[in-house]
Amino acid sequence: MTLPLKSLFQLPDGMIYLDGNSLGPLPCGVSDAVKACVEDQWKNQLIKGWNDCGWMEQPERVGNLIAPLIGAQSNSVVCGDTLSLKVFQALSAALQMNPERKIILSDTGNFPTDLYMAEGLIKLKAAGIELKLVEPGQINDALDSTVAAVLLTEVDYRTGKRYNMPQLTQAAHAVGAVAIWDLAHSAGAVDVDVAASGCEFAIGCTYKYLNAGPGAPAFIYVRPDLIDTIDPALSGWLGHQSPFSFNLTYQPVSGIGRFRIGTPPVLQMAALEAALKVWENTSITEIRHASIRLTSLFIDEVESRCDQLTLVSPRDSAERGSQVSFAFEHGYAAIQALIDRGIIGDFRAPDIMRFGFTPLFIDDSDVVGAAESLAEVVNERIWDQPVYHRRKAVT
Ligand SMILES: *Cc1c(COP(=O)(O)O)cnc(C)c1O
Repeated sequence: MTLPLKSLFQLPDGMIYLDGNSLGPLPCGVSDAVKACVEDQWKNQLIKGWNDCGWMEQPERVGNLIAPLIGAQSNSVVCGDTLSLKVFQALSAALQMNPERKIILSDTGNFPTDLYMAEGLIKLKAAGIELKLVEPGQINDALDSTVAAVLLTEVDYRTGKRYNMPQLTQAAHAVGAVAIWDLAHSAGAVDVDVAASGCEFAIGCTYKYLNAGPGAPAFIYVRPDLIDTIDPALSGWLGHQSPFSFNLTYQPVSGIGRFRIGTPPVLQMAALEAALKVWENTSITEIRHASIRLTSLFIDEVESRCDQLTLVSPRDSAERGSQVSFAFEHGYAAIQALIDRGIIGDFRAPDIMRFGFTPLFIDDSDVVGAAESLAEVVNERIWDQPVYHRRKAVT
């Protein structure tokens, strides 16, 4: 099938949804899958569901559906928990691998929760480990033999700038550092190849471009040769080699399952597994091509109509993820005015208007329509109405 695949989603009429990078829309089939999980499985099978409905193996089974989307080998990805927890897991494992080194290197463009989780881990370890933050683009220069791990988000959540993952992974390895990549804004949107990059760990969430719904579980990739060498710091019973022996000491299971922690969220897993069926109709290569076309078109269409906005995303599509961001002093109010007109983007402080392009359901006419409305809101100062200036809790 050719993109977009709008018919595979339940999009509200009249809405141009450019926020699939924050929360993907509802794929067809997800409501039925969740309903079946509740009504057929939970209601009728009760506790038997763990054995008879495949609930227990689901985190690995779903991990294997995500694997091809990020270039991972089978049995190297497992789902569960939240991305913040997966950051902690990957980082604690990386520090174990480099016990003599004291620096975790990241950048000031990283998503705060990744940095907060690093801070928490550092406090816990009390071993003089430091989080060193440099400007995006300065990572190469900051790499030296003191760095234990490099923790980066491949596509910057504000600017949409994409790191060169193979190149930076290689640079990290050249100084003996472990590479951890956060794929929150990559998985399902850009052509990631974790295996080819050689990185040790990758983590990501599934409620953004993978459309699995609010609070959907995260995932972690661990390079296959390392999996069984890692003694997980978050040593929960479902990562144990024999949870139902109820042994008093932890012994991790062999394989990616050791990165499980506790009971999986079965209803959310059902939503995720159903949401991933969309990928039977397309490939990440097709998605990347379409994404480049759509984001380039949006930049052209906006800039040809409006000169008050500053492009903060890279102009070179090779360095751009699947979003386009413009800085505008009145960005918050402008986004509210756009939302009022059915164009859904979002705002990131201090002044960034962010538009995500999910090629699964966005086409050229959506792009042109959104650009027209954005130009109108800015050029005609439609944003300058009191109602658009009131701040909501989630921006
Ligand atoms: C969205 C996002 C998160 C969110 O983490 P949760 O634990 O799922 O709330 C973390 N890191 C990055 C880079 C993100 O873009």
